[in-house]
Amino acid sequence: MIRKKGIAVSPGIAIAQFIVIDNEEFDISEPAVSGAQTGDELERLQGALDVSKREILELQNYTQDRIGKEAARIFDFHLGLLEDQVLIDKFHEGIESSQVTAEYAVASVLRSYAKEFLDMPEYLAERVKDVYDIEKRLLRNLTGQERPSIGNLNRDAIIIAHDLTPSQTAGMDRRHVKGIATDAGGATSHTAIVARALGIPAVVGLENITASVKGNEHVIIDGNRGIVIIDPDTDTLLECQNFGAIQNAFLHSLDALQLLPAVTTDKHEITLLGNIEFPEEVKSVLEKGGEGIGLYRTEFLFLRGDREPTEEEHYEAYCEVIRACGNKPILIRTLDLGADKYTQSRARTPERNPFLGCRSIRFCLQNIPLFRRQIRAILRASVNGDVHMLFPLVTNIMELRQAKSIVRDVAEDLEEEGIPHRPDIPMGIMVEVPATALQADAFAREVDFFSIGTNDLVQYTLAVDRGNEKVASLFTAAHPAVLRLIREVIRTGLQHEIPVSLCGEIAGDPEFTLLLLGLGLRKFSCTPSAIPEVKKLIRSVSIKQAMEVARQISRFDSDKEITSYLRAVTRKVIPEFYGEEA
Ligand code: PEP
Ligand code: MG
Repeated sequence: MIRKKGIAVSPGIAIAQFIVIDNEEFDISEPAVSGAQTGDELERLQGALDVSKREILELQNYTQDRIGKEAARIFDFHLGLLEDQVLIDKFHEGIESSQVTAEYAVASVLRSYAKEFLDMPEYLAERVKDVYDIEKRLLRNLTGQERPSIGNLNRDAIIIAHDLTPSQTAGMDRRHVKGIATDAGGATSHTAIVARALGIPAVVGLENITASVKGNEHVIIDGNRGIVIIDPDTDTLLECQNFGAIQNAFLHSLDALQLLPAVTTDKHEITLLGNIEFPEEVKSVLEKGGEGIGLYRTEFLFLRGDREPTEEEHYEAYCEVIRACGNKPILIRTLDLGADKYTQSRARTPERNPFLGCRSIRFCLQNIPLFRRQIRAILRASVNGDVHMLFPLVTNIMELRQAKSIVRDVAEDLEEEGIPHRPDIPMGIMVEVPATALQADAFAREVDFFSIGTNDLVQYTLAVDRGNEKVASLFTAAHPAVLRLIREVIRTGLQHEIPVSLCGEIAGDPEFTLLLLGLGLRKFSCTPSAIPEVKKLIRSVSIKQAMEVARQISRFDSDKEITSYLRAVTRKVIPEFYGEEA
């Protein structure tokens, strides 16, 4: 039995045999073919193009049904590549003039195409992954290599991989993929986000899980505690099955909370909102009992396609969210691209230190036409709903002033053009850099609300990369320095009478709920699947109890003591969460 600790990114317990998805390295050496064989090669190429197109269309329909239209658009780019006449002509030229095999023509043309992509604007460089994806698919169909397909399994399985590509994750066979474990990745990786949206238990950042499995032993994925157990002994298997059953029963029991308010036992009303990446996710936020959208990560609009979205595409996506939400509040965050949201190694001029580089609001203020297009769409869409505009990673008051002045300017343009819009849209900032938290009072005078982003606040306060599995054990919001910043931001918000919400991952972690309530937080925004548990906790405690927890915390100097204290008090309130009887 081997036990490994990684980063828990999608909750739940899964037990099944595993499948390892490798990197599919294809042998394309010995490229020369004789003139007489070129006809055969062209025919093989056409066959592979046709099969690949069919496969992608199937994958796209499947994704649309399971995750929604937005996510399925990832595949438009793949289809576009397979139908691109310039590329097809180049494949033909390779086979006919250079007399190479179809495999060799495909690999060499697509690899040089991938290089061209690197010279495009940096956020598009991420699309290089899709070019590699298409290359693999074509080669697989040319060589006829049988590879395990996670899109069509005939038995339940845990997927183990170094990392997964966007099309692999989005196209997974939901009936049979019971869990995911990867060597690479962090809580914000594409795999993590889609696994959460699909409700598949997942643990990432395990470093060498692919090298730790062999044969066909069973694997347990504990997506709550970030643990993977390979070849469990009978006792561990029974214990996990038992834990899973109690947890499932507990989660089902929470369905009854959907329509009940998030109110403490001493009648303090708390607002519970959901975080989304795609408009289709609004449905699950509402089904889980969320009262609106506390964070809409719009950078996924940019990441899904091969180009910057047009103003109309932005507008359509925002209207779709508004239509699904009715008059519930929606915080649309402006583009937060950069750092972990595209691959630096593929950028034209890689930044030496991307998390401290040109990301988020900094990127927008250096690309004003792009920023204005997004702002126009938000202002136009906001006449239809209760929309708020949220700026990410603001560190300097001048950035805020500049962003607000661009909004005013865009509103004036819309006014002149006679286009309906909301000029007085509430504007707020993510508080996710220590400098901003420390200067919260100055910011509070110039914004309508704060949203605390603990994912980044933790990494910048503790100097721990949030996506680096090697330092994952140091990444914790329970560090006294982080908690002090959170407390100050909430207190400043209260003092200035502006709403403060918290949308980092800890908003959905029941072990932090009591403490955050005790620190004065009244608005939580989290991943949809976490809403019921957080609501259950809120409805089980009083603010008086929560304040006592916050007071006790100030006695501790280390995050370890705080974590175990929080676990102990949470365990008392909802033992079912720990697999124990109530
Ligand atoms: C955060 O930093 O806490 C946050 C919510 O934003 P993101 O995870 O998208 O960086
Ligand atoms: Mg952030």
